[in-house]
Amino acid sequence: MLESLKPSPRLPVLFVGHGSPMNAIEDTRWRRSWQALGTELLAAANPPQLILCISAHWLTRGGWQITGMAQPKTIHDFGGFPQALFDQQYPAPGAPAVARSLAAELKSPATGQPLAVDADVWGLDHGSWSVLKPMFPEANIPVLQLSMDYSRPPAEHYALGQQLYALRERGVLIVSSGNIVHNLRTIRPDAADDQAYDWTMEFDSLVKGQIESGQLDTLQNFRALGALSQQAHPSYEHYLPLLYAAGAARSTDTPRFFNVGFQGASISMRSVIWEPQHSAA
Ligand code: ZN
Repeated sequence: MLESLKPSPRLPVLFVGHGSPMNAIEDTRWRRSWQALGTELLAAANPPQLILCISAHWLTRGGWQITGMAQPKTIHDFGGFPQALFDQQYPAPGAPAVARSLAAELKSPATGQPLAVDADVWGLDHGSWSVLKPMFPEANIPVLQLSMDYSRPPAEHYALGQQLYALRERGVLIVSSGNIVHNLRTIRPDAADDQAYDWTMEFDSLVKGQIESGQLDTLQNFRALGALSQQAHPSYEHYLPLLYAAGAARSTDTPRFFNVGFQGASISMRSVIWEPQHSAA
């Protein structure tokens, strides 16, 4: 059981587009990238001691929460999928002592209050396990989930992400899981992964540009894009995880995109890893 975090060279921070839950078990190009990335992260000189996941699928109100159970359960928070998906388990351990200390250390941006520890309600939802299982199939790195207080404005999610930066130098791999464009009302299941609506591509490309140019602060103002933003995110829980990863990134990190493409024409699978720049040998 992991009792405390130890200093480490700075870890990368990840935003992963998760798309359909079926990506957890189907041999898609998305899943193959997750597998390759996991192998790469484990082979690094500083593999993660702990994973902190922020998923589009854990929304709370009236405060943020961190999972504090010793053995978080695998949550199958979807319907209408094959039994094989419901049979999936991701038995990574939790880290209750670390969860308690992180909850005390991190502060709700508006009030300065510590976060709450959830000892029995949540676990790992599919936003987390559908990507972690392909990445780290051994399930031997402890995982905590951080909820998102959906009653609070985007700027506070970004601000909390900024607090997470310090954890990257204590062995924590931050994995944010959502989608840069996510509109289920307009899904076309038969669309190829290079096909998307004009507005899907436009919003995806705007976000890409902001990340490439290091305008990470600007990402929190997505609602200012008006109708385009409403189309890309009728509700915006799949966008918010990006703000945590961007908040935890630094201008000295280099962003690298992967899984560039679309699912069902109105979900962007674009993912990004911000990596510390290694000084030239
Ligand atoms: Zn989702």
